[in-house]
Amino acid sequence: MKHRSALPSGSWPFLQNQWGPFTREQVHLHWRRTRQGGEPWSANHTFYPRTIKGRFHHPDYQPKDAGTQVGQLCYTNPRLVEEVVQTARDYFDGKGQLPEGWKALGDYFALAPDDTLRLCNCDACKVARKPGEGRKTGFFSDGVISDYWFSFVNAIAREVRKTHPDKYIATLAYWSYALPPSFDIEPNVSVSPCLHTCYYPVHPGMTANDLDFYEAWRRKTKAPMFLWVYYHHPMEPALINGFGCFPHVMVHDTANAMRRFIQDGIHGIFECGEQDQLEQYVMTKVWDDPTTDVDGTIDEFFRLYFGRAGKPMNRFYRRLEEIACDPKNYPAPYLRTGGIDWKKVAWERLGTAERMEELGRLIQKAESLAETDAEKQRVAQWRKAFWDWMVRGREKALAQEKPDGK
Ligand SMILES: [Zn+2]
Repeated sequence: MKHRSALPSGSWPFLQNQWGPFTREQVHLHWRRTRQGGEPWSANHTFYPRTIKGRFHHPDYQPKDAGTQVGQLCYTNPRLVEEVVQTARDYFDGKGQLPEGWKALGDYFALAPDDTLRLCNCDACKVARKPGEGRKTGFFSDGVISDYWFSFVNAIAREVRKTHPDKYIATLAYWSYALPPSFDIEPNVSVSPCLHTCYYPVHPGMTANDLDFYEAWRRKTKAPMFLWVYYHHPMEPALINGFGCFPHVMVHDTANAMRRFIQDGIHGIFECGEQDQLEQYVMTKVWDDPTTDVDGTIDEFFRLYFGRAGKPMNRFYRRLEEIACDPKNYPAPYLRTGGIDWKKVAWERLGTAERMEELGRLIQKAESLAETDAEKQRVAQWRKAFWDWMVRGREKALAQEKPDGK
């Protein structure tokens, strides 16, 4: 891989507590040691009409009949194409700062629309969208605006290639433009499919949908391909909605997915979300070398990091993974086509009373075996990260089940 970006900052509860107190400098050192970075690349949202400043407010390409709220720009408008092409050329020619809201790094100039289906309804846009109308999948990732979006991306790429043949237009394959369009993509368009990796162990439908469009993009693109890999669920909804999720340890599935991506020749990976300390470490080891012995690496970690307490901690971690990654623990209605009810599944199906007793015993065992200060401190940090989080989450869920205490 030429670019890797798993930049944990210890801002989510597991990693934050597993690491214990740390400085910003230590985080940067950790990133260096896990070889984050590489070839500069950027691909993320650029067309936020609310934030895009400067010359991107011309009345010609404001959306027609998209309602009163701010919507997408008119992506079929030739003047918009011209202005974006000029912005890309100026960037590649090193002419000063990009206007606010735009993203580009190295040889990649990024384009991605806003997350809204308040689209322009001029005749040309309606025609451009027509082929995508039936391309729903039932999942978050479909192709409803793929033809519309990628016809715009292609128009930019064709023009920029005339003056900058060795540069790329970077874009995402995401949400309603995840599936490839019905036409060829220009050879200087670098695509980044956004994949719901965190669902792979337990959601076969979403996994198949992801890997279908991932493979379709591999067949279609000629430029270097990047990936966004999601590790945002279940922790992100848990933090937003104030519940305690079951720890979604999926280290073997992560290693399998990453091995595949590297062997497929993926140019770079951006991780969106934050795993726990060990899974993140194993993932970067697989990025270094896809033939890494995953179980050997895990065993070595527990032996060296927890010393005498290593065995029960290893067992604890592997039990979390076995429970979190068993599809049998996610029957309907916990699992639905488009997602998982992470809140309910956590303590009704995953962290059951019996399993909590078993896991609690392992933590107690580790605490009784830890001898050195380092061993004790590390067990305490992992206890705080995982076990205390689980106990609190389960208690909160059980309390909410009671009908108002009456
Ligand atoms: Zn339009």
